[in-house]
Formats: sequence, C-alpha cells, structure tokens
Amino acid sequence: MTDTATLLVPTPNQDTLPRRFSDFATFGEALDYAARGQRGLNFHDARGNLVRPYPYAELRDDALAVARRLIARGVKPEDRIALIAETGPEFAALFCGVIYAGAWPVPLPLPTSFGGKDNYIEQLVVQLRSSDPSILFFPAELAEMCGAAAARQGCEGLGWDAFLAMPAPHGGVLPEARPDQICYLQYSSGSTRFPHGVAVTHEALLNNLAGHGHGMALVPTDRCISWLPWYHDMGLVGCFLSVIANQVSVDYLKTEDFARRPLAWLDMISRNAGTSISYSPTFGYDICARRISSQSHVAERFDLSRWRIAGNGADMIRPDVMQGFVNAFAEAGFKAAAFLPSYGLAEATLAVTIMPPGEGIRVELVEEERLSGTPRDLSRPARYRAIVNCGKPVRDMVVEIRGERGQVLADHHIGKVWCKGTSVMHSYFRDPESTEACLVDGWLDTGDMGYMAQGYLFIVGRAKDMIIINGKNHWPQDIEWAVEQLPGFHQGDIAAFSVQAENGEEVPAVLVHCRVSDPVERKKLHDQIKDKVRSITGMNCVVELVPPRTLPRTSSGKLSRAKARNLYLAGEIQPYPLAA
Ligand code: ATP
Ligand code: MG
Repeated sequence: MTDTATLLVPTPNQDTLPRRFSDFATFGEALDYAARGQRGLNFHDARGNLVRPYPYAELRDDALAVARRLIARGVKPEDRIALIAETGPEFAALFCGVIYAGAWPVPLPLPTSFGGKDNYIEQLVVQLRSSDPSILFFPAELAEMCGAAAARQGCEGLGWDAFLAMPAPHGGVLPEARPDQICYLQYSSGSTRFPHGVAVTHEALLNNLAGHGHGMALVPTDRCISWLPWYHDMGLVGCFLSVIANQVSVDYLKTEDFARRPLAWLDMISRNAGTSISYSPTFGYDICARRISSQSHVAERFDLSRWRIAGNGADMIRPDVMQGFVNAFAEAGFKAAAFLPSYGLAEATLAVTIMPPGEGIRVELVEEERLSGTPRDLSRPARYRAIVNCGKPVRDMVVEIRGERGQVLADHHIGKVWCKGTSVMHSYFRDPESTEACLVDGWLDTGDMGYMAQGYLFIVGRAKDMIIINGKNHWPQDIEWAVEQLPGFHQGDIAAFSVQAENGEEVPAVLVHCRVSDPVERKKLHDQIKDKVRSITGMNCVVELVPPRTLPRTSSGKLSRAKARNLYLAGEIQPYPLAA
C-alpha cells in the first residue's frame, strides 16, 4: 500500500447525508450543498498517484470567485463561455463559475491524435460559430491553436491561468437561477454528422442525475474513478456533475494518460478501499484486456473485487469483448455481475436506460437478417448477433419503439427508438431545423434502432449507419465484427459503409487497418476479407487495406463511419496498393 492508498479511503458518510439530486432545483444548489461535506474531486498523475485533492468546498469558493470575475468583465446571463475541457481543477472551477454567473459553459474537445492541428482549429471554429461564445478559455499549452480559432470567430481567447490568478472582486450579487433556464451546452459526439450543441436546462440535468443515480442504487462507500473526457456527456454528466450532485468523491486519470497507460485505471480501482463505480465504452475494457500478457501477474497487481459498478455505454456494447475482459481479470477478483450496461445520448442529457445493478450483461441471440429487416436467404446458413440488454428506462423516462408509419411496436419488434421525459432536450442551440427533425410533441427520435422486451431496451444500431443495397439492409457492425474474427484484427480496425461502384451500383465498402507489410500477404488478406463479406452479404464488396490508426474516431473515441466514408471518397484516406 502506498501513501496514495490511504487517500482513497472513503470519508465516512457526512451527518447531513444522504440528500439527493432531486432535492435540488438548480445545479448551483447542488454544489452549495456538496461544499458542506468532506468529499471532492481528486486529480491523479499518469501513474495514478494523487497530485491534487480538490474538495467540493474549495471548488465552490473558486467557482464563486470565477463568477464574480466574469460579471466584473461584463459577462451577462445567457452569454456562452466556451471552455477547452481538460481534466483538472481549472476546468471544474470555470465550468461551475460560469453557471453561478448565470452564463452557459460550453465544453469543447481537446485535440486528438487524428486529423492534426489544422483540422482541430477548423472543428473549433465551427463549434465557436454555432455556440457563439463571448470568451474561449484554454490552457496555456493550447494557446496557439485556440487563440487562432478564437480570432477567426471574433470571440475573446483567454488563457485560464492568467484569469484564475486575477484577484476576484469581493461580494456582489449573483443572478438567481431557475430550473427551466439553460445550465450549459453539450455537443453530441459527431459519430454520424458534425457535433450538434444541445441546450441542457438545470431541470433536465438534475432529473437525469436523479434518474441514473437512482438506477445505480448508490451506497455510502461508493467512489467514482474516471478517465472519461469532460467534453463528452458520459464524462461530464456521468463522472463530474453527477458526483457533485450525489456528494460522492471521484478520482480522475487524464484521458491522454489512460490512452498511454490504460492499466493505471485498474490500479486506481484496486487501490480504492471502498466500492468503485467506473464507466467506459467497450473499447476501454478491450484495451485493458489486450494489455495483459502471461507475465502480467494480474492477481498480484490488481484487486478488482470491490468494483461494484463497471458501467458500459456510449457505443455498441460488445459481449465478446466484455467476456475477454472477464477472462483477463477474473483472477484479480473482477465479477462479471458488476457490468452495468446503459444507453443514452446528449439529446437526453445522458442516460435513457440503465440495467439494474448486479444483473451484468444479458444478451439475446437474434438472426442478422431479422435485425436488418431483410427476408431470410435460405441458400446461406443463418448468422446470429448477440444483442445486449441495455436496461430499463431511468425514472421519468418513457421509451417507445416505432415502426415506419410511426406506429408503436410490440415487444421484440425492431424499430426506431423514441424517448420522452423530463431530461429530454427542448432544442439544439439556435438550430430549429435540426430540432424539428428529431423532436415531435416532446418525443425525441434518438436515431437508433432497437426493440423492447419485458420493459428492457435492446439496441441494434444507428439508423443512419445502415447500409442499404438493392432494397436490402445490412448492419455495418455485422460485417465489421465478422471481419474482425480473421486473425490479426482488433475491435475498431474495420469500418463498413456503402459506395457507388464504377457501374453506378451501390456496393459495400470495407476499410481495414492493415499491419501486414508484404504485398503478397496483403493481397491474400484482401481476398480473404472479400470472401468473408460475400459470405455474409452475398455481394461483392470493395476492400481497402489502410494504415493502422487512419480510421477516424470522434473526440470521444467512437468510430465514425460517416467520416470514414467522406474521407475515403475525398481521397484523404490512402489505401495500400495491392500486388497484382
Ligand atoms: P452524433 O449524434 O453527433 O452523430 P453520437 O450520437 O455518437 O454523435 P452522443 O450523444 O455522444 O453522440 O452518443 C449517443 C449515441 O451513442 C446513441 O444515440 C447511440 O447511437 C450510441 N449509444 C449510446 N449508448 C449505447 C449502447 N448502450 N449501445 C449502443 N449504442 C449506444
Ligand atoms: Mg446522436
């Protein structure tokens, strides 16, 4: 046990606890209340050692000082203040301070390894244009890129170090917040289109926190451990706003540190003397399982026996990958029953459904042709996909599955997933057209396809990703996951979509990360993949082998097939040439 370990012992439940989110009308009230206790945010270095404890009391003081400084600078209620969301005390204080000032924080992504500097600036400019903030705050190391983006959009670019070091004016009246007012803007991930800014009200936020907090059945020893980025709803709402409103402590590993040393995440969970709650999309579990080798001394290094909730969501949940994680970490005490599938989206603040704790991952095997709504081709053997049970609607949320004519479908019938509830958005920010396209009488068209069974939701895929050829539908993941089974491939190495062939017909196209350098071997691999796709779809397809790490991911790490298709058609993804 190191010194850090003792710092991770949960503080005893405070005398005033438990008081839960639904008691609070605004986010400011929740932070005011959390600041009366001992808990807080804890920031860790790349090895998972604690470097900066940040109790909620200190966060509140700093946030109030931020609010006073902003008001003194002329910031008005409803102004947007953009923040580059780096995991750290500065972002936390600025985010909460902007809310205390009655303005709306807009978390924006950090640069990723994809696309380079120019693309990052370009994306920032578009988000600054759509959210129209008066200030963009950024960390010193991003001054050049962020300053350039702010200058192009004509908003003030400010390094937050200097701003936070300025003396704050004393006293002054802060605006009173109302539950129906907007609290912050949250961008969707940009998996199917450019990220859209959702206007989240205090009421929507607190209701969603109540919903998923209730769903997780929190216990006093719970502590959250997270590496999820704060510019994505799962990290921001699930692991920052929710811990404050719940008066739970949290330990953060920076996303970039997780990417470099993923097992530091599991080291932190092992060191927590209380029960752990920690979330990740499937890919995070996959990376950890793949890092384990026969020399890893899993049982000696990790103790995952107190990991109570191992949440999963934000993207398709892969039962095979999650099984791989269990196989790798069972000897460290990890229990498969800790898995907690959930489903949500930015337009619903975060959670729509959540599995009751302790039930783990439950799947139903469904014939692939039923999933895509195409008649069964009797000339080929049936293929099945394991569809994950994503749980029950959170409190205050109703889910309906609707058919093509808008009719509500019965259990086990696949259709569009619609939801309605107090945490569903009223609009995208300044985008009535996109709002009208997905909101009808308070009901949100999630854009996802799935079915209900006995009150549980099963997600099949995104409607926009469906490949439609000759009136027949194919799910890209059925193709991708089948190709992944060939030796040498990992989860996320393949993107499937449709393109027009030279004769004008639509055909499936598959881009595949290729780690083979010998041209003859590449050609063999290419032919193998082609055969595999033909065996599933009955069609010839375009197969392109591309260098590793070229398939585009969103800032939150999800594969974007739409972007892959655009880049490929624009010639910006260069496939390897094949031997004749
Ligand atoms: P954009 O809307 O900008 O194209 P996005 O939909 O990925 O991107 P988010 O709101 O961050 O943006 O993500 C929500 C989406 O993630 C859902 O609509 C769904 O497609 C997917 N998702 C979330 N949870 C699950 C889950 N458990 N299983 C399958 N997919 C999920
Ligand atoms: Mg979406």
